[in-house]
Amino acid sequence: MTDSRRLPILIFTDLDGTLLDHHSYDWHPARPALDRLAALGCGVILATSKTAPEVVQLRSEMGLSDWPAIVENGAGTLAGGSDDLPDAPDYAAIRAALDALPGSLRGQFTGFGDMTDPEVARTTGLSLPAARRAKMRSFSEPGVWTGPEEARAGFIAALEAQGIRARMGGRFLTLSFGRTKADAMAAITARLAPALTVALGDAPNDVEMLEAGDIGIVIRNPDHAPLAPLSGEKTGRVWREPLPGPVGWNRAIQQIIDDMS
Ligand SMILES: [Mg+2]
Repeated sequence: MTDSRRLPILIFTDLDGTLLDHHSYDWHPARPALDRLAALGCGVILATSKTAPEVVQLRSEMGLSDWPAIVENGAGTLAGGSDDLPDAPDYAAIRAALDALPGSLRGQFTGFGDMTDPEVARTTGLSLPAARRAKMRSFSEPGVWTGPEEARAGFIAALEAQGIRARMGGRFLTLSFGRTKADAMAAITARLAPALTVALGDAPNDVEMLEAGDIGIVIRNPDHAPLAPLSGEKTGRVWREPLPGPVGWNRAIQQIIDDMS
């Protein structure tokens, strides 16, 4: 017997290259699936490398403001039903650690904090107002490694010695104190106790989340090499959606809803 008061499905979804088109950042192809989830009383948790100010706006456009959101790759969480922005002690500590590196390493990493608003807009393809929101960080620092590939490991090791972890996302090398999307997902899942969790993502920074879901859906991103095989793929718990971005998201979620009814 199922408990009718229980949250039936809780979705944890990456944004860029998953619910948002990799190039246009459009999510509207996924609207039919989002509408069906809302009608069924299911929850959708945006889980992204984006900042709180970026997510607040998108979450509102998608009608998901009552749900919490995972921001800055799991380094922080935004409460549901509130648009209050978090404090930023982690960010200040990461910037200080970067600036304490030897110049030979520091000079080869260009973080968002080193860029002007127009430079962030150019690097990300975001509009200028969106780039401004992307620079308003609380927990982590994304950037571009401009040095030789073989020097990157030294840069990462020097930061690791200060407790900072560097991870490659779809587009950027992001520095944080190591909490992942899956850590934040575990906390939210424990609190909301859904009957089923579904995780969707396209990049290495989504792997833990994809493996933690009752169902994990790898959304194809034609702009990147495919993810290495994940645990759960052999048993079918994790599967690959052949269509990219929000078109694939829409198809995969509608299939799960169809299979349940
Ligand atoms: Mg992505």
